[in-house]
Amino acid sequence: MKRLILPVLAGFLALTVSAQKTASPASEESIQRPKLVVGIVIDQMRWDYLYRFNSLYKANGGFKRLLGEGFSCENTLIPYTPTVTACGHTCVYTGSVPSIHGIAGNNWWDNQLMRSVYCSEDKSVSGVGGKSAEDGQMSPKNMLTTTICDELRLATNFKSKVIGVALKDRGSILPAGHSANGAYWYEGKSGNFITSTYYMNQLPEWVNQFNNRKLVDSLYKIGWGTVLPNETYSQFATADAKDYESKPFGKDATGMPYDLSKFVGNDYSKISSTPMGNTLTVEMAKAAVLAEKLGKNTVTDFLAVSFSSPDYVGHSFGPNSWEQVDDYVRLDEELGRLFSFLDANVGKNQYTVFLTADHAVAHIPGFMKENKLPGGVMEVSGLMKDMNGKLKEKFGVDNMIVSMMNDQLYLNHGKIDSAKADEAGIKKWLIQYIKKNDAVTNAFATSDIMTTPINKTLREMLANGYNPTRSGDIQVIMKPGFIEGSVTGTTHGAWYPYDAHIPLLWYGWGIKHGKTNKETYMTDIAATLAGLLHIQMPSGSIGKVIEEVMK
Ligand SMILES: [Zn+2]
Repeated sequence: MKRLILPVLAGFLALTVSAQKTASPASEESIQRPKLVVGIVIDQMRWDYLYRFNSLYKANGGFKRLLGEGFSCENTLIPYTPTVTACGHTCVYTGSVPSIHGIAGNNWWDNQLMRSVYCSEDKSVSGVGGKSAEDGQMSPKNMLTTTICDELRLATNFKSKVIGVALKDRGSILPAGHSANGAYWYEGKSGNFITSTYYMNQLPEWVNQFNNRKLVDSLYKIGWGTVLPNETYSQFATADAKDYESKPFGKDATGMPYDLSKFVGNDYSKISSTPMGNTLTVEMAKAAVLAEKLGKNTVTDFLAVSFSSPDYVGHSFGPNSWEQVDDYVRLDEELGRLFSFLDANVGKNQYTVFLTADHAVAHIPGFMKENKLPGGVMEVSGLMKDMNGKLKEKFGVDNMIVSMMNDQLYLNHGKIDSAKADEAGIKKWLIQYIKKNDAVTNAFATSDIMTTPINKTLREMLANGYNPTRSGDIQVIMKPGFIEGSVTGTTHGAWYPYDAHIPLLWYGWGIKHGKTNKETYMTDIAATLAGLLHIQMPSGSIGKVIEEVMK
């Protein structure tokens, strides 16, 4: 039998070799791809902003171009909790969920290190370009899967160029992936865009030149005033300077306009909480396209941009504020400018854009109350102290809860083990106790997600978000409209649609015009890109291709 197989195998090998010989590089080019993919994540964008502020968006702005010529997936949902920045950016680019990609929060508790771990921290690298090497010790090493950008690099034998740009480090690093050519983020101490030795040992000359422009100084000198008549803000938002808004520019800066000139040379972090953070991001993205010649390669390049400022503005002032109306009107203009720049430098219909959000946001509880709508606040630090005190009385061990993050309680397992305390009893007591809290609708052990009687959507989102080594011990479900935090400002992170319903718009090369109302998921974005680009989906992808989008 062996004798028979060998000649057949030899013949087959000869065939494949000759097939390889006749294949010319031209066959590679016969696969049509865009010159550039521009991935845009708006940090904290509710889907309804597309329509609530629609009449304020300009004909030559970004949103009307995407809606008018591109494709809108109107019912795109986040399929996991917690709905926060790091998980969102990672999910968009990996097509995966925290249980698989490992980014279980912006922070999570590490029971071995006995401290909170930041999603993109990496103590083995140094920062490059900031005030000190400790600023910017960041990399994607905590992310366990590839991103669509990594897959593009793999598909082209690393010829595709991938660059990440955002004010927040996690908004740049996690999307760009493990094999990115560069990821740059803004550092508030120096006012510079920086990177880390994970990518390079010194900033490229074009980044130094960008930093030397001192753009933030000129933006600070302009300040943050209203761009629309005051009546327009009143039509679209609650009165300005409400008590339940936070005051990021100082306790005396209670409402618009904001004088920012006092921050020149003194505090470069404040720009993030203004719409000028978006201006800075667009300018940096444009500089990256020009200097790195993105879209001028023999293969497809990828620019991953995240706009962090809407999140800072939203946390402080909420979705119904003058500030957020102003922020989105200006963001629309910035996006319009970015697309015009791409038309001129890459070519109209030569690039593909998708725009989505890492999460949406809840209204400020004070605003909800004012309007007789359900909502409230749970103050976490006082609650933890209170529960730890009671646990000590009952079980004889102090500080058994080490953290409350991402709506989960983390227990000190080392302490419980060495004291031979009754872990099951502790959990049972805690669940009963926290269920009595006014802000809480349910609580159970994370190990019981699949067996607790809860609705199907919530169960799936919790299971997708549960990472055995990085998630907590007890899951707390807040009532709708309730947030963890303080009485000023708002946040996101819950499973409810106000946090989990996000925009998803596609535009440009290979994209149809239209919309769908069918349910699509954040996880489907990477799979759809993989289909569009004819490349492998990322290593932890669970998404499905949204076929309606493609020509
Ligand atoms: Zn946020």
